[in-house]
Formats: sequence, structure tokens, C-alpha cells
Amino acid sequence: MSKNCEIVKDLLPLYADEVCTEESRKLVAEHIAHCSECRAELEKMGKHISVKAETDVNVMKRIRKRMRIEKITVGLISLAVVLGIGIFALLYMVNTLGPMDVLQMSIGEDVRAEVDENGDLTLILKDYAATEDYLMPILSDENGKHMGIDKDFDASKKEGFGVSLMQRKINSFAAFETYDSMDRKIDVFNVNEAEIDRFFIYDEKNNKEYTLWERD
Ligand SMILES: [Zn+2]
Repeated sequence: MSKNCEIVKDLLPLYADEVCTEESRKLVAEHIAHCSECRAELEKMGKHISVKAETDVNVMKRIRKRMRIEKITVGLISLAVVLGIGIFALLYMVNTLGPMDVLQMSIGEDVRAEVDENGDLTLILKDYAATEDYLMPILSDENGKHMGIDKDFDASKKEGFGVSLMQRKINSFAAFETYDSMDRKIDVFNVNEAEIDRFFIYDEKNNKEYTLWERD
């Protein structure tokens, strides 16, 4: 029992009869709000006191705690959504191929074709030009109209064989080289055997054609 309790217990009979001074009344009221022992003592005197004030404080505390938990939950969900979108966007940019913008990437000097002593025409790609493994083969007719390998084309009309370079979305976005951007050599065809007179790179983005090899 604290010293306060002793003082309060002395005051309790006066408090119960409502004859104590305003100062004493405040002191007792404040004390019994958090001292169950003195509160019990007062109740024994037949005075039922209200503990509403304390209850209100507890309710407020509980509401505040719940609001804090809700705020944290909403924050975590938002973070997860933002992270999810970010990861999805990154994966999309890494995995999705589009036609390479030859002009924007200025890869002109990074693309060459060579014919070796056996007559094999080899496509040599460096730096950005070698960013992605995927080459889209293209044939053109005598009017220079391009016919993709998947599209219906008249093989007898073939005049040139070309490839369209692909790149990841992230390369066009951030213009950095991804892990597979090593220099690459690709055997395209044997010029002695092929009926093709020309080999070119086709830039779908700018609708431009760059001749790499032509039959003499
Ligand atoms: Zn007490």
C-alpha cells in the first residue's frame, strides 16, 4: 500500500459523503481511477463509482492500436503491389523482344558479313547488335518487298535474304548490354550453293535496309 493509498483511505469517508474539499475530491478521483484497492474500499462504503473515464481511455487505446495495424497492413500491401508491378515490368522488358532500332542503337559498324574461303557467308555481330540471339529471317521479292519466313512468299522470286535483329525491351529502354551481348558469328548460307543474290539487315523500326553482301 503506497503512501497515497493511506491518504486516500483517510479521505474516502469524506469523499463518499461528498463533503471533502474540491482539491481532495480531485485527488481521490484521480487515485481511484487507477487503484483498484482503494476503489474496492470506496465501494464497500456503498458508493458506486464510475470507471467510465478509464474504460474510455482503454477503448481509445484499442482503437488507436487497431488503426495503426490497419495503416501498417495497407502500407505493406501497397509496397507488395508496387514491388510486384516493378518485377513484372522488369521481367517483361527482359523477356520481350521487339525489332531492333538500328539507327537509335547506331549499330551500323557492329554488323558485318564475310565470305570465307569455303564460300560460307558469316554474319558478324558485335556489342548492341549482338544483344539478342534471335534473328528474324526475311526474304524479299524482285520489287524489294519483304517477306518474312512465316509469311507466304514465292520462293522463285527470291532476290535477297536478310535478317531483322531483335532486341529486348530493356535495351531500348535503358540501352545497356545484357549478359548475352558477346560478339557472335553466325553462318548464314553458302554463297556457292544458295540461289540468293543479296544478303541484308532489315531495320523494321525505320523501314531501312542495309546491304551486307551482294553477288558480283
Ligand atoms: Zn490506493
